[in-house]
Amino acid sequence: MTYNITTFGCQMNISDSERIASVMNEMGLKNADQNKADFLIFNLCSVRQTAVDRVWGMLRKTKDKTVILTGCILPKDKKKFNEKKYLILDIKDLTNWPQKIQKNKKISIKKPKDYFSILPNYTSKFSACVPIMTGCNNFCTYCAVPFTRGREYSRPAKEILCEVNKLIVQGVKEIILLGQNVNSYDGRQKTKKINFVQLLKKIDKIPGNYWLSFLTSHPKDMSDELINCFAECKHLVPYLHLPLQSGSNKILKMMNRKYTVAHYEKLIKKIRKNNFVNPHLTISTDIISGFPNETKKDFLATIKAMEKIKFDMAYLAAYSARPHTAASKLKDNISKQEKEQRKNILNEILKKTTLKNNQKMLGQETEVLIDTIKDNALIFGKTKNFKRIKINGSTKDNSKKLMGNFVKVKITKANVWNLEGEII
Ligand code: SF4
Repeated sequence: MTYNITTFGCQMNISDSERIASVMNEMGLKNADQNKADFLIFNLCSVRQTAVDRVWGMLRKTKDKTVILTGCILPKDKKKFNEKKYLILDIKDLTNWPQKIQKNKKISIKKPKDYFSILPNYTSKFSACVPIMTGCNNFCTYCAVPFTRGREYSRPAKEILCEVNKLIVQGVKEIILLGQNVNSYDGRQKTKKINFVQLLKKIDKIPGNYWLSFLTSHPKDMSDELINCFAECKHLVPYLHLPLQSGSNKILKMMNRKYTVAHYEKLIKKIRKNNFVNPHLTISTDIISGFPNETKKDFLATIKAMEKIKFDMAYLAAYSARPHTAASKLKDNISKQEKEQRKNILNEILKKTTLKNNQKMLGQETEVLIDTIKDNALIFGKTKNFKRIKINGSTKDNSKKLMGNFVKVKITKANVWNLEGEII
């Protein structure tokens, strides 16, 4: 029997799919192409309507297959999938999937205590995402996550440290700690409580040649102790993803974000004060355009904030109401066209700031992790501050050896969305 997994959405879903693959393999199933597989698993994301629509389109072509749906599914979508008799399995219940999938067979596989304890079938040999918590208690008014992933749950510290340790011993070069809001990690080590900063420092002490980063943070929970980690932890890379969402205090309040633009700007100032020069500390963000009642004045405030902060990257989204959320009860009074137009204006600002920030790196010699090699000659990677980079020059003969390794590169060209450089 064979299986195929299609994953939608964020890094957390990608990481969950690695654990699903591990369970399938242990059941004796083999991975196969979508058109040949007996079991089709769709790991869904209900955060945007477009992703849900794509799934429905794909499900139309799955006759004669056993379909399993999992991941972030809103109750409304769950009901519709149920009506079509698709098998819906909760990711948190992954340890019980074998019994649920093969009801009539006697299954004898090891049963870990929860789904985080399942050893993942990592997709990369040199870069690994390690979930430290899941769920969210924040209830931002536009967000479906608290309704799909439920409340916050933090993994025990011992288990996280054990997983990271093994990865580093195996030679993994990049560890990305994952969670909807990593700052509110509230784990335990034996009977003692352990917060995110303490966990980060413990991981950083593991010896080895690796980069450490984390996703995603909430501005209301960015403590001074965490900011100081960028200077204190030697493996922590100079990169932070910190969602701003809007530059208007009125809209932030309506989004239930619990911080002001001034607070956010103060955080950025403190973070940048750590004097990262080579490479500079990069900051990426998320911004929603056209939230209900976002006036021209509110939008201008977002433009102003973007121009002032000068992000290295921004994931821009036109607002779409998600069922069950508090914002979905508000009148969606900005036209689709206006939302797109606002998004495009923000993108033009972003293009200017990314180019300027990239130009700061011209001539620098910096460490790069090679992660993509195409046609045996086109080589790509990322810098320590998470910039995409294309490697030029004569590397054809040893290109294969570079994959998954750190190399020293001199930056020779700065483009809007990436850099170019040569191995030195
Ligand atoms: S912090 Fe807000 S946006 Fe992020 S997952 Fe939680 S509710 Fe959603």
